[in-house]
Amino acid sequence: MDAAEFRRRGKEMVDYVADYLENIEKRPVYPDLEPGYLRSLIPNEAPLEPESYEDIIKDVERVIMPGVTHWHSPYFFAYFPAASSYPAMVADMLCGAIGCIGFSWAASPACTELETVMLDWLGKMLQLPECFIAGTHGRGGGVIQGTASEATLISLLAARCKAVRRVQTINAKKSESEILSKLVAYTSDQAHSSVERAALIGAVMMRKVPTDNRYAVRREMLKKMVEEDKAAGLIPFYFCATLGTTPSCAFDHLTELGPLCNEENMWMHIDAAYAGSAFICPEFRPLLNGVEFADSFNFNPHKWLLVNFDCSAMWVKERADIIGHWQIPLGRRFRSLKMWFVFRMYGLKGLQAHIRKQVALAKEFESLVRADKRFEICAEVVLGLVCFRLKGSNELNQELLKRITKSREIHLVPCQLSGRFVLRFAICARTTESHHIQQAWQHITQLTFELLQEAI
Ligand code: PLP
Repeated sequence: MDAAEFRRRGKEMVDYVADYLENIEKRPVYPDLEPGYLRSLIPNEAPLEPESYEDIIKDVERVIMPGVTHWHSPYFFAYFPAASSYPAMVADMLCGAIGCIGFSWAASPACTELETVMLDWLGKMLQLPECFIAGTHGRGGGVIQGTASEATLISLLAARCKAVRRVQTINAKKSESEILSKLVAYTSDQAHSSVERAALIGAVMMRKVPTDNRYAVRREMLKKMVEEDKAAGLIPFYFCATLGTTPSCAFDHLTELGPLCNEENMWMHIDAAYAGSAFICPEFRPLLNGVEFADSFNFNPHKWLLVNFDCSAMWVKERADIIGHWQIPLGRRFRSLKMWFVFRMYGLKGLQAHIRKQVALAKEFESLVRADKRFEICAEVVLGLVCFRLKGSNELNQELLKRITKSREIHLVPCQLSGRFVLRFAICARTTESHHIQQAWQHITQLTFELLQEAI
């Protein structure tokens, strides 16, 4: 493919992408396939001779599309959203074209500098305390990670180094391995599995803090565990708080937990992977109160802020704490271009409107559920996630979800809350409108009707 063909094919691809997204709701949201479907559709080996572009593009519909779960369909309500917008996609093309591996300032100054400034822009949108903003007198700043999982791991590794250094300044004879074996990290019993994985990789103990009846960690619960561990000769050093837990979008009480972490010399990291985007709206910003006590804070613009995957924003209060490990890989893409294009083309007001619209859609779905006495809401609806279930056994709800998935008209995933099987309905696609919510609910009630008829 030379430049002339690239011009032609590139324009065709833009048309294909626009057609795909404009017509996505006509496709079944979830594939109807058995695992292993793809191997039989393509050769066992890479071609020896070049193939034509036409042949490849034909295979996109034949081989790929049947196996795609359409995350950007307005009938996709599973997991949490994966952000998508045209400005981000266009910027991603430019990122691919520049193709730099921005591991140092000299490796591509614009890559390093735009990233720093974009994280400041975003930090200011969230009204982060000044100490997190690089372009101030503070010692903090932001960096883009690939995922929230990486941000958690980096914060844990930084906290581990700091804790070892602190213990050794008091007792120089203590070896690093001796200290490491005594370090304890904490997180909520509702935290994402990536937090536990960070502790596994970081080779430190991690304890799960039980949550209250709203699935949030409170000060007393953490304090009790910390006291027990100190009495047993262990060294509490790290707490990962969650704002917007994966199962039910619960919020740990930062204003209680932050001071405790500061008193106990424990690093507090905040994982707000999904919910963080909402903090650009003044009405949701109070959920972030207490961030001033944190050492690091992270959320994924690639979930809910219209910046396509991957773009996970992380801030630290002290840049010095993570210098040496700003990130896990050496290489980094020019991801801040996506933020720059999106922030400029939507403006803060456009981004706020996106969040507010999706929260309103979740509230609309919540009202539909509440109006039907066969169902119950299982957790407070704060943002764009509704946890609900049929009043009845776990088996009944499992069967309902099985039928929903099999129908392929809408897509949801479950969670466990207090041992109960619960359906999660998350507002995901940028293009989801009220009529999609109404249609989804109609579909769920139709399947419910059939299920309950059979049960009689
Ligand atoms: N933390 C929370 C609260 C999440 O909900 C998720 C994913 O949904 C993650 C972390 C993991 O995110 P990532 O894929 O960016 O590592």
